[in-house]
Amino acid sequence: MDINELLNTNLQQLCAAADAVRAENVGDVIHCRALLEISNICRRNCSYCGLRAQNANLQRYAMSIAEIEAQAMRAVAAGYKTIVLQSGEAEAYDIGEFCEMVSRIVANGAVVTLSLGELPRADLARLRVAGASRYLLKFETADSELYNRLHKGYSLQQRLRCLSNIKDLGYEVGSGFLVGLPSETQSTLVQNLKLMKEFECDMVGIGVFIPHPHTPLAQAPKGSVLLAKKCMACTRLLLPKCNIPITTSVGEYDGIAMFNGGANVIMQNITPQNLACDYQIYPKSNGEINIEDDRQKLVHKIAALGRCAI
Ligand code: SAH
Ligand code: SF4
Repeated sequence: MDINELLNTNLQQLCAAADAVRAENVGDVIHCRALLEISNICRRNCSYCGLRAQNANLQRYAMSIAEIEAQAMRAVAAGYKTIVLQSGEAEAYDIGEFCEMVSRIVANGAVVTLSLGELPRADLARLRVAGASRYLLKFETADSELYNRLHKGYSLQQRLRCLSNIKDLGYEVGSGFLVGLPSETQSTLVQNLKLMKEFECDMVGIGVFIPHPHTPLAQAPKGSVLLAKKCMACTRLLLPKCNIPITTSVGEYDGIAMFNGGANVIMQNITPQNLACDYQIYPKSNGEINIEDDRQKLVHKIAALGRCAI
C-alpha cells in the first residue's frame, strides 16, 4: 500500500474503504472507555502541552488513591468495562499502593489501561503483575529531529525503548501520534504511519495538535483535522484489526463521524469537573460530568449510528 497515495485520496473515499475493512475485521461494536485524569503533575516540558512543568497558570492536583478507586468503581457500576487512568509524568504516587488499587479495580471486573508517561521498566512490570493490561504511550512523531526539538532533554529513541518494554511485558500497546506539529510535512505523516505499522500497535490514537496559550507553541497554527481523519482511515487500512479511538482532540471536530471511517473506540471523560478544568493539555471547555447520564447519552448516540456500544 502506498501511504502517500492513500493520503492524497479524498476523505470520503478513504473513509468508505476504511469502514468496510473495519466492519470485516472488528465488527460493529464500539468500545466505550472511561477516561480518568488522575493527576496533572508533570516533570516534562513537551512544547505543545498545557500540563508542561513550566506552565504555572494552573492548579496542580493528584487525586488520592481512594478517590481514583471510588470514581473507577462508579464507572464500572455505570457499565464501563475499561477504565483508563491518565496523568502527567511524575512520581505522584507510591507504586505499591497504586498497584494494590489497580488490583482491586481489576478484581471488580474491569480492564485497567494506563497512560502515565514513560515509566521505568520495573514499575511497568509491577503494574502489569498487579493486573493492568493495556498501556497508552504515543510516540508523538516519528521524525526524531522534530521529536527531540519538541521534547528537550528526551529522545525518540528513549520513547521507543519504553514502548518496547511495554510490549515485551505483555501489555497491549496503544501508541500513535499528533497531526499538525510545527514544520511537519506529508512525509512526516507517512513516517508516522509506517512506524505505527512496523510496531504493530494494538491500539492507535491519532490526535490533532491544538495550540495552548501557555506553551511555547501558543502562536503555532492548529493541525489539520482533515489530515488527522485521513490518518485514522489509513490506519484502519494498514492495521485492519487494531483498535482506533476517536481521540478527545479529534472528537472536538465532529470526530464521531469517524465511526464511519475506521474508528471503533471512544473515551468518555469521567474526571470530576473541579479537576478537569486543570487538565487542559489543550484549551477545552469542560461541561458538568455525570458518569451515569453521560454513559447513557453516549450509548444512545452510538445506537443512533446503527452501531452497538459496549
Ligand atoms: N503524560 C502522558 C499522558 C498524558 S498526555 C503522555 O504524555 O504520554 C496525553 C496526550 O495528549 C499526549 O500523548 C499528546 O499526544 C496529547 N497532547 C498534548 N498536548 C496536546 C495538544 N496541544 N493538542 C493535542 N494533543 C495534545
Ligand atoms: Fe507531560 Fe504528557 Fe503533557 Fe508531555 S504530553 S507535558 S508528558 S502530560
